[in-house]
Amino acid sequence: MEFDYVVVGAGAAGCVVANRLSADPGRTVLLAEYGGRPVSPMISVPKGFYYILRGDRYLYRYPTRNGEAWLRGKVLGGSTAVNGMVWTRGAPADWNALAARSGPGWAWDDIRPACEAIEDALGICAPPGDCEITRAILGSARSVGWHVTDDFNSLDTERIGPTPSSIANGKRVTAYSAFIRSVKKRPNLTVATRTRAARLLFDGHRVTGVRVQAGKSGIDVAARREVVVCAGAIETPLLLERSGIGRPDVIRSLGVELRAESPNVGERLIEQRGLAMQVTLGNRSGISRRLDSLPKRGWEGLKYLVARSGPLASAGYDLVCQFKSSPEAPRPDVQGLFAPLALDTGSAEMKLARHSGILFMGYPIRPETPSSVHASGPAFEDFPVIDARFLESESDRNSIAPVLGIAREVLGRDPVAALVKSEEFPGSSVTTPEQVIRYSLETGRGIYHAVGSAAMGPDDADVTGPRLRVRGVGGLRIADASVLPAQVSGNTAAPAMAVGWRAADFIIEEAR
Ligand SMILES: Cc1cc2nc3c(=O)[nH]c(=O)nc-3n(C[C@H](O)[C@H](O)[C@H](O)COP(=O)(O)OP(=O)(O)OC[C@H]3O[C@@H](n4cnc5c(N)ncnc54)[C@H](O)[C@@H]3O)c2cc1C
Repeated sequence: MEFDYVVVGAGAAGCVVANRLSADPGRTVLLAEYGGRPVSPMISVPKGFYYILRGDRYLYRYPTRNGEAWLRGKVLGGSTAVNGMVWTRGAPADWNALAARSGPGWAWDDIRPACEAIEDALGICAPPGDCEITRAILGSARSVGWHVTDDFNSLDTERIGPTPSSIANGKRVTAYSAFIRSVKKRPNLTVATRTRAARLLFDGHRVTGVRVQAGKSGIDVAARREVVVCAGAIETPLLLERSGIGRPDVIRSLGVELRAESPNVGERLIEQRGLAMQVTLGNRSGISRRLDSLPKRGWEGLKYLVARSGPLASAGYDLVCQFKSSPEAPRPDVQGLFAPLALDTGSAEMKLARHSGILFMGYPIRPETPSSVHASGPAFEDFPVIDARFLESESDRNSIAPVLGIAREVLGRDPVAALVKSEEFPGSSVTTPEQVIRYSLETGRGIYHAVGSAAMGPDDADVTGPRLRVRGVGGLRIADASVLPAQVSGNTAAPAMAVGWRAADFIIEEAR
């Protein structure tokens, strides 16, 4: 089997790459995805987010050394099929800083057109919500000085507004539904599901294809021009290591031949760390009230099916804000999300409580503590070793310490304060900076936004150069969240898709 391009992974970036490369009928493209098709209707229901995360059908659950689980999507669309749909482009200042650090092609002037083109295909919306709780939160946020905006992505000041979301006509839009479904009949595009890249194939130092595993069969697929790895920030470094590209000690421990020494494969991974807070409300309002019995759930389900409206049609979190952890900070360094619902604290799953509440999540958006991810064995089934590290730098600790206090200040002001009965968690025992940091480390989670594990940059020690070619070998590029050397202030689906867009730009330009 032979193609011009083999794209590994049909996630946020991979779908964009495969769409754009296959737009020219003269190029043949294989898009190889380990997961299956998005069969469950709950994937397209926006609030189905909470339901999908309970099961394993569409998810990888990677255990970390500190006993947590990092989730990723395992299905056409990758993590965009299971994520919270929050659509933040990243701040222009961060993209410009990234370009200054990594090389040309990544400044905001390069990224903005990519974001706009992607948004045209996706159809991003910011549902205004029809809920007294979100209206009250906006009122209280205004009173602490945050700007209330319907266009969250256009500002880099302290602000709050309806969450820009990858939702169109009341349905989740994934990278697959936006970029592949409509073009999958192109004769030069082959989309293979349940097909995983086991390792890269070489001729000397040139990558010539991929050994894929489809069911029990292993097949060698040749790539006449390039292999583009889009397997995400966890799987991409593992595929490189299993193919002999990475830290020599890691490669040796796998019993694999060293093809290219690359000291930062799997290193410098940057994940965000959050904390959660929940208050109960005095009256029975919000999403919990509208979904707290079988008949009500049936009614809201019907409304959703007929009109694509109601609480099921809005994003995982209805409001998003960015604010400064201290007045001296030059720009917002924390992102917050509010949902007008309460989670059941008695359940280990993300189950809705029967009472009304407000759930808040907050996390510093430009953390700098590095984690790492490495293969523990030569087979895909061998779980990676993820050394998840958080809040080790003074700046990370300073950013998170005030987050609870700021959320309490917003929820403590009218009009929302008039609705709040009590703080359900964490409560008054978590107040001082040390207590907040400990609370975040002990009960928080990674936000599933890892970047940087195969970061680009100008130095020999950077895994790829700015045009995303992997150093030390030919015929191989990486295009996914792993190449971003830093967080760009917010969530990572839009940045990963922009990486896919830019990778396609580079490949198309160089093929001319
Ligand atoms: C639960 C959750 C909630 C999130 N919420 C948000 C949010 O609200 N907003 C936001 O912007 N971001 C969110 N994110 C993060 C965002 O979705 C990801 O950062 C983004 O999708 C990463 O894109 P990617 O292309 O790097 O990888 P992915 O989208 O993860 O795609 C990687 C793909 O590669 C496939 N793959 C992996 N290994 C192989 C292999 N060896 N062979 C073949 N296929 C392979 C995987 O199955 C997957 O389909 C969330 C993520 C999760 C998991």
